[in-house]
Amino acid sequence: MAGRILIVDDVATNRIVLKVKLMAACYEVLQASGGADAIASARIDQPDLILLDQMMPDMDGIAVCKKLKEDPETARIPVIIITADNDNTSKINALRAGADECMSKPLDELCLLARVRSLLRARDMSEELRLRDSTARELGFAETPASFTPSATIAMIAATPVTAMAWKTALGNTLHDKVVVIKKEQALSLTKTQNIPDVFVIACNLAKPDEGLRLMSELRSRPETRYSAVVMVIPKDANNKSATALDLGASDLMIEGFEPQEMALRIKTQIRRKIQADRLRETVRDGLRMAVIDPLTGLYNRRYAMPHLARIADHAKTSGRTYAVMVLDIDRFKAINDTHGHTIGDIVLQEVATRIKDNLRSVDMVARIGGEEFLVVMPDTHLDEARMAAERLCHVIDDRPVILAGDKGNIAVSLSIGVAMGGLHVDVRDVGQLLESADKALYCAKSDGRNQVTFSRTAA
Ligand code: GH3
Ligand code: MG
Ligand code: MG
Repeated sequence: MAGRILIVDDVATNRIVLKVKLMAACYEVLQASGGADAIASARIDQPDLILLDQMMPDMDGIAVCKKLKEDPETARIPVIIITADNDNTSKINALRAGADECMSKPLDELCLLARVRSLLRARDMSEELRLRDSTARELGFAETPASFTPSATIAMIAATPVTAMAWKTALGNTLHDKVVVIKKEQALSLTKTQNIPDVFVIACNLAKPDEGLRLMSELRSRPETRYSAVVMVIPKDANNKSATALDLGASDLMIEGFEPQEMALRIKTQIRRKIQADRLRETVRDGLRMAVIDPLTGLYNRRYAMPHLARIADHAKTSGRTYAVMVLDIDRFKAINDTHGHTIGDIVLQEVATRIKDNLRSVDMVARIGGEEFLVVMPDTHLDEARMAAERLCHVIDDRPVILAGDKGNIAVSLSIGVAMGGLHVDVRDVGQLLESADKALYCAKSDGRNQVTFSRTAA
């Protein structure tokens, strides 16, 4: 996973030292020698990450970071501020300015590279979600998410409940979210029906050394907790543990002895990211669903049906088995609309769709491809099976009327069905022709008196 990293430092030798380290790890490196330069380069070059020196003559790192985070063009680029001080105040100021991390000189190479990898990974993931979301939006299928922010749950897991309680107490009222103290076993027995924590704060050492790291890997591998953020609390002077934790998937780290404010800031950032990612995942999922589902009947639409038919044709070419393509059309539906109104017409459509779906196998595909026209594709199906299935469908519609709720009466409905058989002889490119054959057969079923099944002559 390479990436482009912008190094910002007024001292050329510092830039060169960093550049050598990063290039050895196969990153592409850009450089800027001051704050104004850095802001310009971030906008134009759109680097994947910025390493930003705090002490610079024209503008300090914190001021540059604030500017970058205020500008929508650069706000999403992760920033690591590098300071000469090793105190909590500079760290807190950096985090408050929107930096993703603050590291002190001399830089520990192992930690720096692990942090770079972790930030690039997180960024790649959110960019991918964003991309899929914008595709769904371009298709016109995703709603803009609501602006209201739900409250989050944070779970604290430390070596002793006393320590975890102390973390919780230290947070005080800085967060408007629910904070719970739990045991490792409780974290591992969470199920989807429970309130899954958005953020876990976990000590690296639990009852046994490194047990927290193993717990995190376990949480990451489970579907229930995969998307939760994990903030690892690392013992002092255990730099190698920091790197390991990040590489194992920690979203962020704190070193023991951290200030309550630092914990609050880091947790807030994780909550914001988690909620944003959850929303994106949801809109992408809904968007994709909406793109292929007919909202009235819940059946697939034409957009889904056509490539699906092509896939079945492709599969049949290798399996050598035949498949059936049916076009179903409600008889005299216009008259139903004219007599009872469009709303009742819709109810009839829904009922017919349900009956069709309920009378086919789960491998069969049912789609609504026109106003009162449906497509059924049955893979691995012989002519006789297709005939039986089509006749059954005619029968389940004609057999009993659609009963309207609230004593509004009954409506008799029937279907005409045209069938064409596909198999080895049909090339994937010709599925359109197959559909046309089924359509022609449907036309014959209509002209022969409706409420019946007709097979395409080429199929028999
Ligand atoms: P035929 O037996 O020859 O198929 O006659 P028909 O009346 O069913 O066929 P026609 O194509 O003349 O009419 C179809 C009607 O379906 C016309 C249209 O207003 C109606 N329709 C199309 N989409 C919808 C819908 O979503 N809801 C409702 N209620 N009606 C619809
Ligand atoms: Mg019709
Ligand atoms: Mg029609």
